[in-house]
Amino acid sequence: MKTKFLIFLLTIFSGLIFTGTASAGNSQLAYAPDEVLVKYKETTTAAVANNINATTIKYFKQSKIYHLKLPKGMSVEAAISLLQQDPKVAYAVPNNIYYLNQLPNDTFFTQMWGLNNTGQTGGTSGADISAALAWDITTGSSGVVVAVLDTGMELNHADLAANLWVNPGEIAGNGIDDDGNGFIDDVNGWNFANNSNDPSPTGGSCGGHGTHTAGTVGAVGNNGIGVSGVSWTVQIMPLNIFTLINGTSCGAFSSDILAAIGYYTMMNVRISSNSYGGGGYNQAVSDAIMASNSLFVVAAGNDGLDNDTTPSYPSSYPLINILSVAATDANDLLASFSNFGTLSTDIAAPGVSILSTGVNSTYTIKSGTSMSTPHVAGAAALLLAQDPNLTIQEMKWRLMNGVDNLALPVASGGRMNIFTSLQYGQSLPDVSVTMTPVGSTDIRGGDIIYYQIQFTNNTANTINAASMVYLQTVTGFGSLDGATLILAGPITLSLPPGISPVSTLGWALPSGVAIGSSFSLYGVTTPGSSFDEDKITYTIVP
Ligand code: CA
Repeated sequence: MKTKFLIFLLTIFSGLIFTGTASAGNSQLAYAPDEVLVKYKETTTAAVANNINATTIKYFKQSKIYHLKLPKGMSVEAAISLLQQDPKVAYAVPNNIYYLNQLPNDTFFTQMWGLNNTGQTGGTSGADISAALAWDITTGSSGVVVAVLDTGMELNHADLAANLWVNPGEIAGNGIDDDGNGFIDDVNGWNFANNSNDPSPTGGSCGGHGTHTAGTVGAVGNNGIGVSGVSWTVQIMPLNIFTLINGTSCGAFSSDILAAIGYYTMMNVRISSNSYGGGGYNQAVSDAIMASNSLFVVAAGNDGLDNDTTPSYPSSYPLINILSVAATDANDLLASFSNFGTLSTDIAAPGVSILSTGVNSTYTIKSGTSMSTPHVAGAAALLLAQDPNLTIQEMKWRLMNGVDNLALPVASGGRMNIFTSLQYGQSLPDVSVTMTPVGSTDIRGGDIIYYQIQFTNNTANTINAASMVYLQTVTGFGSLDGATLILAGPITLSLPPGISPVSTLGWALPSGVAIGSSFSLYGVTTPGSSFDEDKITYTIVP
């Protein structure tokens, strides 16, 4: 534990960003001094007695995490050590704090090279995400929601207001939780940092960061004013998680990140944009991301470091639903400040001198992996607008395989090209897969689940297609929570043109799974030139 803790401290101090600001560098807190986050092995919704006389601040349903306030005088280290001795405890971690991944830049430019680069800022023509071509295919959909976990958004900004998320089940200002989701008057998002229904910007050093990132995702396009987001039409759900730590530096507590992830998970949001990081490993945050059933787009960090050897969280959690983003400049070079990593960083996107919306109805330029991240989140929104049934892995594959490969030190090797990614959706994949349940998808622990899988070769030639069936557990599986279980394959199938015979397969569900939890079986086929996935979602009933 001690070693782990040391690494955690080193990581967080190496992860401070905000270079060039007066508050950076010496006084930023690594974690809340009198709080911890605890996960118990028993998945119960009742308050669990703890062995350190801590009081419960909050219980996070989705991730089954208790947010505890420590008794006066007890250190976080002592509390964690004591909690770990309790056999009921799965883990106990600090409530650590994450900081923004922006680099301030006060020079005003008027052209958005990242979307469409003609060399207007002295960069290289074509060093952009090909948004102008992409918009010939789709400019987005109001049916797609992107949660922006940031410092809040200027709700009435003329370039954002029309794309602000509206909770269809909530009546504004009546003091009633109309949709029964546990949040009163959550009409346009939530402020988790001050527990209010107003996700407007946090002031001070939190500045206009969240208004800027929101504008890159989805400032209203083609409205004759200001800037355009990657997705012209979209619903932006601003979730403010940032507060002024000790009145100065802008930070986000893990507990507020957990709460925000829990909120958008509950509201079935499929994409989130996360322009912060540099904090230490936090099991509770990792679990919440995993349980979110959404694409978690996150900044790689601004330390200029290799995340493969110096992890930066949350970017570096090894979760399949994370897409971590490095920054490029107007010449398609990796930005000097950008973190990278051929294993742990996925994709690059424009992040130097990015023009977007600012507070007080302004427009501002900012740099950072904070700015590259919402480009990718906005692009994911375009993919979902094109095909609302895409799985998380289908979105991720299309984004990563659509890059312009520039031999950048990221897993995909390239800078995002959303036009290429959208083109995958304009024709059938070389091989498609269909999953069909046999019998009800309401199941009980100990049942054997039967399902059918069938492949279709959509080309005129025989294709070798690597294929498998897997499932990722979230909660309810006890010690298997968070596991990726491969149920069949991987196997390379030689498929002649046309529809293959149906295979019926079965899997014995463990008997101890919790009632009410749900999970999906995914059939996936990756013949090399395409990717297709289909899923069946099951619910555990009494
Ligand atoms: Ca509500």
